[in-house]
Amino acid sequence: MGKPTGFMEISRQTSQEIAPEERIQNFNEFHIPLHCDEQQAQGARCMDCGVPFCQSGMMIGGMASGCPLNNLIPEWNDLVYQGRWDLAAKRLIATNRYPEFTSRVCPALCEAACTCGMATGSPVAVKENERAIIEYGYESGVIHAVPPPARTGKRVAVVGTGPSGLSVADLLNKRGHKVTMYERSDRVGGLLMYGIPNMKLEKWVIDRRVKILEEEGIEFVTGADVGRDVPAQELLDSFDAVVLCCGAKQPRDITVPGRDAEGIHFAVDYLTSVTKSLLDSNFADGKAISAQGKKVLVIGGGDTGNDCVGTAIRQGCTDILQLEMMPCPPAQRAPGNAWPEWPRVLKTDYGQQEAIAVFGRDPRKYQTTVKEFYKNEAGKVCGALIARLESKVVDGRRMMVPTGEEFTVECDLVLIAAGFVGCESYVADAFGVERTARGNVADVKYATNQPKVFVCGDMRRGQSLVVWALREGRDTAAVVDESLMGYTNL
Ligand SMILES: Cc1cc2nc3c(=O)[nH]c(=O)nc-3n(C[C@H](O)[C@H](O)[C@H](O)COP(=O)(O)OP(=O)(O)OC[C@H]3O[C@@H](n4cnc5c(N)ncnc54)[C@H](O)[C@@H]3O)c2cc1C
Ligand code: SF4
Repeated sequence: MGKPTGFMEISRQTSQEIAPEERIQNFNEFHIPLHCDEQQAQGARCMDCGVPFCQSGMMIGGMASGCPLNNLIPEWNDLVYQGRWDLAAKRLIATNRYPEFTSRVCPALCEAACTCGMATGSPVAVKENERAIIEYGYESGVIHAVPPPARTGKRVAVVGTGPSGLSVADLLNKRGHKVTMYERSDRVGGLLMYGIPNMKLEKWVIDRRVKILEEEGIEFVTGADVGRDVPAQELLDSFDAVVLCCGAKQPRDITVPGRDAEGIHFAVDYLTSVTKSLLDSNFADGKAISAQGKKVLVIGGGDTGNDCVGTAIRQGCTDILQLEMMPCPPAQRAPGNAWPEWPRVLKTDYGQQEAIAVFGRDPRKYQTTVKEFYKNEAGKVCGALIARLESKVVDGRRMMVPTGEEFTVECDLVLIAAGFVGCESYVADAFGVERTARGNVADVKYATNQPKVFVCGDMRRGQSLVVWALREGRDTAAVVDESLMGYTNL
């Protein structure tokens, strides 16, 4: 611990955010990092707690508290304070192989669990320390390709190149197994690439990492839809192990009258079309689903819905409304939601901040759902009937039920961000792997009912977080390695 009194003397300081009115002019990241000296001072705020909850990754009250990767946070906070950036980078990547992703998109479970946050109200700026370390690592050359010194002769196929696939592939390759990654999309990265918008994670960050992985010997095959274009049997015949990392992309639909109207899209299809058009042609190809000049209705008040809000505003929508079934969370932790549990409190994310700046109001309407979509003579969506909901105990269970009050809204673009219901069945069926009642692939410690076939990430646990996908990749790599070699040192 570098500065015992740091947390008392130094206030929390984080990157400057470009103002909403300005940042909506483009799709770029909008955080201006602290100067190196300022970041070092933030490292000094860490108390090196006897029980560092920041790195615990425990489940408390059904929610994760602290870093699921068990990052060695107090160690590298101290190294940041001391300005020993090289060492900090090495400590960071000891547990987290892709800090450039988590330091941009993670909700920072570490900071929610930080003792300093409990004691002073402002946690250590762990996430931005992480970002400063990894960007230093790239600039200084600490992060570079390190191919394995020897090969084991074993071959592994990884299906899906999202964070779980990249994580498992990296570690198995480092161990010396020859890894080929199959991706049905035209670009590598899964939801990091086509899901999370560019303003949260600029896509060159993924390409920069993929280049290193290629130099280290991983082979990427894009445009390869395993289970359709590439037969499952071909992989089973050619590889010693197959790891399925295909995500949980089956969206929850809204099955109400009028659902067949034109102009109603799933959130990920919308976000994918926008990022692809941005990357392919800076929107010149006109292939993005467009919100320009439209009244947009987003169904779902979560993070994906927020990404839709931020994206539609950048495209120039004329109005936006975001429906959320649940009641508005409290501003402060409620009784029964004590530190270090994840705080279930109101969060106004970047898209909502932008909506407030542009339209003068928070786009979220709580305790509401769609009852019907209206379409015009051309079959295009033109409005929706919204039902108000209230929380009631029905048959012993607390549920959201209609109050009977309804109202209509005009809209000409609807984006469904109502969550996901498991993985797409065709890949699981092609490999003959069993699924659970919730739609995920069933496993015992990442092994499926089929010999040689493993599963990890959202395809196993359901739609989750990037940090969990990385953790699952790490654990799965050890299980696969042990199955191939009889022991593992991963
Ligand atoms: C819009 C959106 C925003 C999000 N934002 C955040 C965020 O800010 N922070 C955060 O922590 N988490 C976020 N998440 C969640 C996070 O992105 C996921 O939990 C994470 O990406 C899961 O990783 P994965 O590798 O398991 O699957 P995915 O990232 O879904 O990757 C699966 C990959 O498998 C490929 N694939 C599927 N089937 C096949 C096949 N048959 N053959 C070949 N390839 C196949 C897919 O094309 C895809 O590339 C977000 C999710 C969404 C939908
Ligand atoms: S909980 Fe906070 S103060 Fe304690 S070691 Fe972790 S980052 Fe440092």
